[in-house]
Amino acid sequence: MDIQDLAQRLRSGERRALARAITLVESSRSDHRALAAELLEVLRDSAPREAMRIGLSGTPGVGKSTFIESFGKYLTGQGKRVAVLAVDPSSSRSGGSILGDKTRMELLSRDPLAFIRPSPSQAHLGGVARRSRESVTLCEAAGYDVVLVETVGVGQSETMVEGMTDLFILLLAPAGGDELQGVKRGIMEMADIILVNKADGDLKPAALRTVADYAGALRLLRKRAQDPADFPKVLPVSALAEEGIARAWEEMKTLWDWRAANGFHQSRRAAQARAWFEDEVRQALLARLTEDPQLRALMGEKAAQVTKGHLSPVRAAAAILERM
Ligand code: GDP
Repeated sequence: MDIQDLAQRLRSGERRALARAITLVESSRSDHRALAAELLEVLRDSAPREAMRIGLSGTPGVGKSTFIESFGKYLTGQGKRVAVLAVDPSSSRSGGSILGDKTRMELLSRDPLAFIRPSPSQAHLGGVARRSRESVTLCEAAGYDVVLVETVGVGQSETMVEGMTDLFILLLAPAGGDELQGVKRGIMEMADIILVNKADGDLKPAALRTVADYAGALRLLRKRAQDPADFPKVLPVSALAEEGIARAWEEMKTLWDWRAANGFHQSRRAAQARAWFEDEVRQALLARLTEDPQLRALMGEKAAQVTKGHLSPVRAAAAILERM
């Protein structure tokens, strides 16, 4: 495989080259890993490009794909190039990806300015994180203006997505009563903008009530020293009626620009790069532990001794680390 050629085609905006590059970074074969690392280095040496990386989360049914479709179309309508990636650590359970369904984002997927990539089917969270980060980097290098990273609201994957994006958007549906929708506090705390979807027709009053409820809840939650005082915000949208989409985009841009102007964008990306590095080291150490036959045998041996009570867990671990 000619990595220089692939990098050049990817940078020139060839979608097939991007798709191929993502397949490469998603592969766990060691020769593919080496090529992927080489590709990422070549791209790093090219003139830097920056996309707005947006994380989007919401439980199934709130309207994520409908929102991505109308938001994506809105952006491509303005001449922006949009990439959509999915992070779904649980996809192995359902046997497919959350973006695997062909009916999702039908219009956007046919838009030449858009690139949609289903989630890699991979159970291991660490592996998903690495591949997704690399895929985001690839989309950015390919010149996409906006990279949307979608995930389902299960907690861990949100933390992961927040760690690879500039903005984090939480999509909610109108609540029936006045109770908050069992959204985990941690996920709410991550949100820069909460969008209450389905603010149309009969659901509109409930949606507006939900907006008010969450605005109240966010005020109690915390203030972020590094953001303008009126963020995080809660806004109503209708993905179906395509209402509130422009406003949502304006707010995202406002926050992004503000952070960039005040150095917080750069510091967030720097912190993410550092976390990525530390994660790489952790993953590599873990891989050695499971892939090296001698270490694996020693693990088995020590585990048996610990189980029988012949060796303390701490000393057993020390013996493994010494061998590494
Ligand atoms: P996802 O599982 O989060 O991707 O949700 P979908 O985008 O598949 O939407 C789930 C259901 O909600 C579908 O029946 C959509 O038609 C509906 N839906 C999505 N957005 C809206 C909206 O803005 N208004 C209304 N009324 N229905 C919506």
